[in-house]
This record gives sequence, C-alpha cells and structure tokens, in this order.
Amino acid sequence: MSDEEAEEEYLFKIVIIGDSAVGKSNLLSRYSRNEFNAHSKATIGVEFQTQSVEIHGKEVKAQIWDTAGQERFRAVTSAYYRGAFGALLVYDISRRATFDNVARWLDEINSHSDTTVARMLVGNKCDLEDSREVGLEEGKRLAESEGLFFIETSALDSTNVETAFEMVIREIYNNVSRKVL
Ligand code: GDP
Repeated sequence: MSDEEAEEEYLFKIVIIGDSAVGKSNLLSRYSRNEFNAHSKATIGVEFQTQSVEIHGKEVKAQIWDTAGQERFRAVTSAYYRGAFGALLVYDISRRATFDNVARWLDEINSHSDTTVARMLVGNKCDLEDSREVGLEEGKRLAESEGLFFIETSALDSTNVETAFEMVIREIYNNVSRKVL
C-alpha cells in the first residue's frame, strides 16, 4: 500500500441515545459482537466499540459510543456528543413513554451538534409485536417530519440491527466525501 493510500483512513464517531432500557447497549453488542444479554445491567461510564465497514473499497471505521447508563441521571454530557458524525436515537416500541421522549433527545442532539450529523430514529424491540404501543407509521411520520432516517429493529432477534448502523455509517461517508470533493 502506498503512503497516500495508507493516509486515507476514515474514523467516525457515532452516538447512541434514548431513554433507559430501550436496548441501546444490546443494539451495540448485537452489532459489534453478535451478542444479546437478557439481563444487562448498565455500568456507569462511557463505553464504545469500533466497527469497520467497507464502502467503495475503502475501510471505514465507526467508533460507536453507548451512554452506559448516564441517561438514567440525565447526565449525558456535551463531551459525549462532541465530534459525533452520526446519532441513533432509540425508543422502545412497547413503551410509549420512550417514544414521547424522542423530542427531548432530539433537542439535546440539536443543541450539541450541527445539521450535518446523520440522525436515525430507531424503534427497537420490534419482536414484541404483542405488546406494541407505538405503531410503525407513527415512527415513520415522526422521522419524516424531523428529517431523520427511520428503522425498526430487534436486538433480540437481530432484525435490521446491521442495517441501522450501516445506513448511518454510509450516510456519514457520503456527507464527508461530498465535502471533500
Ligand atoms: P439500555 O439501557 O438502553 O442500554 O438498554 P439495554 O440494552 O440494557 O436493554 C434493556 C432491557 O431490554 C434488557 O433486559 C434487554 O434484554 C432488553 N432488550 C434490549 N433489546 C431488546 C429487543 O430488541 N427485544 C426485546 N424483547 N428485549 C430487548
């Protein structure tokens, strides 16, 4: 590999936000390690995982940050958002209150970042169809009105988990390459 090629490294920070227990940590562990934990207990502190995706023959790395329980105390600090190129805003389709709080989380991202941050609304736990409290269309409508991407996922059965992260990573890559070119 020439020096020039070696220099072309892409590393983007992505944050996961949303209410407690919507499945943020499990989405990340499912994506990065293909693991699910039914009794996950939040550890306090910040955790991140690095994942690589190949886009147009280039290795693109995403450093994906999990709040690791800080949101329980409304203590997600500006340092958490600093330098983020993308955000997954997660709610639980079986708990309406977590959907009602999406607006609050959006205000928070908006106040910490500019409009180029790729934002995706994620309705997690879509395996819990029997206890659904938030319709698919409601999620779609909210995302459309706020200019967000939208997807429903299940960290439990893996539905759309890879797609959710990779759509955000691809969008970031496209945003950045548009700026560079
Ligand atoms: P966090 O606080 O947002 O990081 O949420 P966790 O990842 O710790 O998950 C909270 C709880 O929801 C745990 O008991 C998980 O096992 C459960 N959970 C997470 N994702 C899913 C999912 O997709 N489906 C179901 N049924 N349960 C989930």
